[in-house]
Amino acid sequence: MSLRRKHKEREDAVSAALLSLVSGKDIVFIGPEGTGKENIVEDVCTALGGRAGRYTISPSTGKEELPAGGDALILDDVFKANSGAMNAIADMMNFGKICGSSADVPSEADEAYSLYDRFAIRAFIGPLCSDEAFLSAVNGKKDDAPLEKIPAADVEKARNAAAGIPADDDVLETILSLRDGFKDSGKYVSDNRWKDSLYVLKVAAAAAGDKSVSISYIPLLQHMLCDSPEEKDEVRRAIFSVCTPGGLELNGLYAESEELLRLAVESKGAVDESAGFPRMIHCYDCNSSFPSLKRLKEHSISRPRHTYADPHAAAGGSQDYIKYTYEGLVTLLSSKYGWDLFKKSDGPDKEGFLSEAKELMKRKKALDDSHESDRSKLTEDMERNFWLTEQDRKDILTMFSLRSAELAEIGSLIADVEYILE
Ligand SMILES: [Zn+2]
Repeated sequence: MSLRRKHKEREDAVSAALLSLVSGKDIVFIGPEGTGKENIVEDVCTALGGRAGRYTISPSTGKEELPAGGDALILDDVFKANSGAMNAIADMMNFGKICGSSADVPSEADEAYSLYDRFAIRAFIGPLCSDEAFLSAVNGKKDDAPLEKIPAADVEKARNAAAGIPADDDVLETILSLRDGFKDSGKYVSDNRWKDSLYVLKVAAAAAGDKSVSISYIPLLQHMLCDSPEEKDEVRRAIFSVCTPGGLELNGLYAESEELLRLAVESKGAVDESAGFPRMIHCYDCNSSFPSLKRLKEHSISRPRHTYADPHAAAGGSQDYIKYTYEGLVTLLSSKYGWDLFKKSDGPDKEGFLSEAKELMKRKKALDDSHESDRSKLTEDMERNFWLTEQDRKDILTMFSLRSAELAEIGSLIADVEYILE
């Protein structure tokens, strides 16, 4: 019986537990009672030829009571430990033997949070969903679950090999880009966690017989970088959006096109600032109204993230609520509705902007052209990577198929730049 068939609705937790036992990095399971989360570790341990010990922690557990454990030690209610026991547990960590289990993530103010933070791998488990039939339909096709093909004897070999396994350049670039993105959104990931995470990827690649960490291992970061069940979907999406071939380039291209449009609008000095709008403009985010470009521009400078409604669509009762950035709106108003917003003089950088727009268009075209070959490469890489779950593969492909729409949007951003500069 394969592990994944037995726990088919818990495939990602099985992957996380395997990663933990193979890499030697400790794992914590977060989820309500009765979800059978510890059974997964017991089973994974058995599959690798070991045995898991088990102990329930209470606030009165003394550090001398903690068992030495077998191949893995499951500690239920691990965050209920008192200070002394917590220190003892921390001392036992980093050999991949500790598997914590808890109903909740401790709050950041709580002393237990620093123990939580020491678990390199986290698995969040919800209550059993009743969609088992659906999952087995999605999942039931093949049950070759090559996971059990990792003999326990090979674990040591994989760990040793990991030290000599390099990460591909695009993997490092992707990590830098994720780090920037998390920073922008206010999510903190410590240098240590990044280091542990990359190490886990190396062991995963070594265990699969790969000579380097390729981009197809990036999705596994979902097991290391989520801090709470609430942020799991968002973090997973952020990771998946950069793990497809060209994904990083696409994100960069998008940001650069937006920036170029912003600069192009700015260079036109936009504007006859005294000119009033023929219709009032409304801000989606704060409900303010603007009778003139001058007022709108001031608002966009003080509230750069606010977005605006198309005044004609809104007046027509359209349900098509597209939210425009300042630059997007100004371009729309002048290109679609002929509002006279730009001074007719050329900005000093016109030629520079136009050649940059041309360059961006070229890069967009390259992504268009490689779309099909990228898709087959992605599918192939994912099939080979047995650490991924069926759901991972499905979600990554879905993400990839959104690429056409994003490319079209990039195309229209670049076209807007050209329009503005005309
Ligand atoms: Zn506003």
